[in-house]
Amino acid sequence: MGVWEGDKWSWKLEWRRGRIGREKDEEEALWEKLGNLQLKKGVEDHWRWLHDSDGSYMVKKAYLAPSEGILEEQLCKVIWCRLVPSKVSFFGWRLCLDKLPTKWNIRKRGVLLQEEELMCVLCHNMIEEANHLFSMCKEAWILWTEVLQWWNMKTVMPNIVRGVADIFVYNLGRVVGKEMGACIFLVVSWYLWYWRNGKVFDNEAVIRGRLLDMIQAKSFLWIKNKVNGCAFSFNEWKVNPVACALSMRSHKQAMKLFLKQQKKGYTAEWNAS
Ligand SMILES: [Zn+2]
Repeated sequence: MGVWEGDKWSWKLEWRRGRIGREKDEEEALWEKLGNLQLKKGVEDHWRWLHDSDGSYMVKKAYLAPSEGILEEQLCKVIWCRLVPSKVSFFGWRLCLDKLPTKWNIRKRGVLLQEEELMCVLCHNMIEEANHLFSMCKEAWILWTEVLQWWNMKTVMPNIVRGVADIFVYNLGRVVGKEMGACIFLVVSWYLWYWRNGKVFDNEAVIRGRLLDMIQAKSFLWIKNKVNGCAFSFNEWKVNPVACALSMRSHKQAMKLFLKQQKKGYTAEWNAS
């Protein structure tokens, strides 16, 4: 591999045969990397995780690393929110990176699907890809509208998944906290996917009219499980989720948010009563 020449390490790479084709470029790239390395005599080799400043490895950081630069740090953090099970965060992370096995993504991977098989199972009108299924689809749009009404929120729904995430994480998040905003986005998306899978695999496993009830019940259970001292009832959660979410924050935090929103005139478009 190499020898010490005084205090300087000199690489001596030996190859069994000459490099061909792409290997030449790879060898060049390797030499470039090795050229920047300064080995120190007497220091033992060790593993270091490059995506962390102190070099320590954590599973959560490993999940975040591939999305660095694609999902901004802020959204990445809230997707791994403590209010939902990790399987739901993982699902949300795949959704925001467009890594879910939608029919369009399956086709992109080379699995041949006929034109009619690519259609969205909810509306049967458009090709099923993530931005359609989780945002533009008129059936999904109706569900999002019901959820917005539940949170007493008026807004124009964007036509991309990231835009929908932003509405919940940032717009709703300004009132009830980003973590809660992310939680609602994740729960609704989770049930949209569950609904879609029911139609694809079981043919009508989910009753459409019960989806909002299921979203309300599941989010209530998850939050109650994860946060100590939640004093609100399921009925209160159904009737006034904003008040319930604010009750989870300390009085000081809630007051700070309220004053901030009042200053921005945000309360004019948001009725958190
Ligand atoms: Zn559709």
